[in-house]
Amino acid sequence: MRIEMNSADYIAYLIDVKELLEGQKDYITKLDATTGDGDHWVNLYQGYEKIVAQANDLSSLDLSSMLKQVGMIMFSSIGGSSGALYGSGYIAASKAVEDIAYLDINSLYNMLDAMLRAIMKRGKTEPGQKTMVDSLSRALIDYKRELEANSEEKKVIEMFVEGAKEGASQTKEMEAVKGRASYRTDKGVGHLDPGAVTMALQLECLGSYLLNKGEN
Ligand code: ADP
Ligand code: MG
Repeated sequence: MRIEMNSADYIAYLIDVKELLEGQKDYITKLDATTGDGDHWVNLYQGYEKIVAQANDLSSLDLSSMLKQVGMIMFSSIGGSSGALYGSGYIAASKAVEDIAYLDINSLYNMLDAMLRAIMKRGKTEPGQKTMVDSLSRALIDYKRELEANSEEKKVIEMFVEGAKEGASQTKEMEAVKGRASYRTDKGVGHLDPGAVTMALQLECLGSYLLNKGEN
């Protein structure tokens, strides 16, 4: 299997995310109602609805312009903290892939790493603070380890997905330092962070898209 992901592929993946999110409304809303204010699913879904509505136009853009446009849509249509965080993440991602026609196993890593760094900078967040950063950062640690071990691309992606899930599940025991959960006296300990869970869902969807594409 060899990864090749152009703009149209990336948009096809984002369409998959919107469909996946549709079945997660109650679960995610409940998570955010427990440690936050309950709007996280609605915020994120609004962004994905806008992206899917513009799917044809977005697919025809070059990779960098498409990611930039996705970032602008996320900035303007996802409410709450996550809009600015995903918006900044995607704008940084677009800069990381200038002059690249399609993502391969290395440039996909670089793009996601640029996204992580931008989210951390914008949110003034480090891993371990019970946020969306925890699933992405753990996924990328595992991704990098497999790249450095020269693993098969299929295995790199599988480990990346496992890392994302693990990163999200670890937020359960973390104390929130950033975001609404940090205002609580229990700092959200004992509850998963909604943003980490939705980040992991998106990364799992990316992994599934690439693994399915690799099989066909
Ligand atoms: P809000 O908290 O403004 O209602 P959302 O409900 O859409 O926004 O998103 C909440 C999620 O955003 C949290 O679960 C957390 O993962 C993430 N988050 C909040 N603040 C930060 C931050 N400073 N850095 C990184 N992620 C954050
Ligand atoms: Mg919220």
